[in-house]
Amino acid sequence: MQVFKFGGASVKDAESIKNVAHIVANYKKDELLVVVSAMGKTTDRLMEVTQHYVDQTGEAFARLDAVKDWHHHILANLFDNPNHPIFDEIANCFVEVEWILEEEPQDTYDYLFDQIVSTGELASSKILAAYALHSGIAAKWLDARDYIFTDNTHREAAVDWEKTEEKIRRDLPTILDEHVIITQGFIGSTSENFTTTLGREGSDYSAAIFASCLNADDITIWKDVPGVLNADPKWFDHTELIPELSYTDAIELTYYGATVIHPKTIKPLQNKKIALNVRSFLNPAEPGTYIRSTNQGLPIPSFIFKVNQVFINIQPRDFSFIVEDNLSHIFNLFHHNRIKINMMHNSAISFCVSVDDTGANIDTLMEALEKRYKISVERGLELITIRYFNQETIERVLINKQIVRELKDSYTCQLLVKKLPAVAAL
Ligand code: ASP
Repeated sequence: MQVFKFGGASVKDAESIKNVAHIVANYKKDELLVVVSAMGKTTDRLMEVTQHYVDQTGEAFARLDAVKDWHHHILANLFDNPNHPIFDEIANCFVEVEWILEEEPQDTYDYLFDQIVSTGELASSKILAAYALHSGIAAKWLDARDYIFTDNTHREAAVDWEKTEEKIRRDLPTILDEHVIITQGFIGSTSENFTTTLGREGSDYSAAIFASCLNADDITIWKDVPGVLNADPKWFDHTELIPELSYTDAIELTYYGATVIHPKTIKPLQNKKIALNVRSFLNPAEPGTYIRSTNQGLPIPSFIFKVNQVFINIQPRDFSFIVEDNLSHIFNLFHHNRIKINMMHNSAISFCVSVDDTGANIDTLMEALEKRYKISVERGLELITIRYFNQETIERVLINKQIVRELKDSYTCQLLVKKLPAVAAL
């Protein structure tokens, strides 16, 4: 069996939804389960609704109305019949959010986020399933929350693999005999039936969970790029497509910040040796990239750029060594504030990291650290990671940049840099 995953960009308007239905009909080789993200930028828009609601700005309803209207407009372009039941189904999805907004916020932000933002995936999957059926595909919509079970860490829920696998294996194979299943990425539910989400961009991970539990033959992530490239075209000219990639290289690249696949996706697939194809929904006939078991290293160096980095240098106030108890205290503070370390290094009396500058939680972290350590901070930096580096690749990325910190192992070089001020022309 196969799993296909379509992200927000692949379902951003009526034409793209038609394209997805076309791909499902033409590229399905076998039994198929389709995982879909919220349409376009819906997740961001619903996050704004949540924030306005929590802050009680009085704007939450207006923001939600904009999301509703946008979905309605897409539906009207997909279905000529205004009495098609999908119009009511989508309206009902949003009524549930309105019920939340009518009450004063009592619950935590993270809990409310999950209840409100998950509507994006519920709506997109319903629209896609209805359109697929309408175009002759034997589609069946399925609520992923009945199959993916998690703990109650809202916004970053951990999957209960045993329970999830048992339920998926028990129920889905018979449905797949007759139907193309269309379900949501990103969402799950707790044992008390509350909706959870798996972390931003988590739909790839959902697809990997279904693929792993169903022992899929392969999984395809359909994207707006031709496959895995050796750098993000946003930051780099002359990118090249990598036709084949080992699980190890894929996991390393995502760990260092390559955004083409969600970092949690690879492990479940590697464990079951399920091949992952990353491919373009704009040119579906092109083969894209295959991530699978191979002893081949990356054929070309790969570059990952992360801007807006903060460099934090942490030193014990009493000149004591940075050893296990200090480190565990420091790591706990990062974990507690949900800050992911992108680069780290320690010496006898200092520990330094580079992290994304995410604003408020960095300030909270700093306050907590300052109680025990002397802290220095440098903002506005860029982190460049090169996998399979050589001197030439390092020189290429250092033009007009000055190194703040450099780390190397046999395969990977990380350079934390700052831009040099432009030299004025004479
Ligand atoms: N819609 C969610 C997000 O934007 C999940 C996903 O797209 O993977 O984060």
